[in-house]
Amino acid sequence: MAGVPPIGIVIAENVQLYKRKHCTEINAYECDLPVPATNCPHPARRVSITETSDLISYATQIYTDGSKIGGKVGAGVAIYTDKTLVRKCKYKLQDYCSNNQVEQIGILKSLELLPTLEDHNTRTVAIYTNSKVTLASLKNSSIHRFLTEEVSNMVGHLTMLNWTIHFRWVKAHTGIEGNEVAGKLAKEDSQEADDQNIVYARIPTTSVATELQKEGIVKWQRQGESTERGAICRSFFLSVEQRLKIEPPITPEFTAIVTGHGKRKSYLHRFKLTDNPTCPCIEGVQTPEHLIYDCKLLEVQRRSLKQHKMADGGNWPTTTMDW
Ligand SMILES: [Zn+2]
Repeated sequence: MAGVPPIGIVIAENVQLYKRKHCTEINAYECDLPVPATNCPHPARRVSITETSDLISYATQIYTDGSKIGGKVGAGVAIYTDKTLVRKCKYKLQDYCSNNQVEQIGILKSLELLPTLEDHNTRTVAIYTNSKVTLASLKNSSIHRFLTEEVSNMVGHLTMLNWTIHFRWVKAHTGIEGNEVAGKLAKEDSQEADDQNIVYARIPTTSVATELQKEGIVKWQRQGESTERGAICRSFFLSVEQRLKIEPPITPEFTAIVTGHGKRKSYLHRFKLTDNPTCPCIEGVQTPEHLIYDCKLLEVQRRSLKQHKMADGGNWPTTTMDW
């Protein structure tokens, strides 16, 4: 009723999350965990990610894009040398990968391609991404996500080989040719059925947590159904999932009604605290349903409740489908 899951389910969820994060589960997907600080370069040696400058003419321009449509995830890369499209590549990621992961893979793969380009005498490169989040994460030295670290290390490695690599955010779908090409490649690849060439399959920890939470709700629902208790509460809230979607006003009065507890005649009678369960209106047993729908002593309050409900687009008598 309070929307707080039973403690047993919360504990089981956390144990499971711990196991998944520490890879103690067999057959589970590897989690995309941050790189431990001890494995990262010293902050003073960390490569700083620089934005492009209008004063530099970049010999190589790379457009990267990611796509996640209908659970299919792909990255596209379009490389231009002296304004000529010289390379188009696409990469497929596991279905559960996030938008950020796919944008970062686009950048990482494009960096890996640089040394393979035929003519790279002028090693100035501009990398364009549609993702502001990705660019911000790359520039933030306190973020040690696996992929941002990989990108940062790769930029460092290429800088030592005399490459100058700068980044820039560009708005998606604004008619920039390279951007459109990369976007098209990303979508093409994300929709291809072939699961063979998946370049990245680490599951984001947020996805693991969400997945476990969903499983917990199913368990919670089953627990509720298998007990005799809380029948009145269940008549108000069809399922745990529905209950969690709304934010009912948890006041003592509201709780008393929807749980069937409280000083109603039917409740007091059940515990032999009153001789008669009949409502003072003498037209029926004083149950929550009677008070909400029938009791003539509450007609004024009912009218106001009904008006509120109808104004919100609901029905009267109200049903659980209205939630
Ligand atoms: Zn009554």
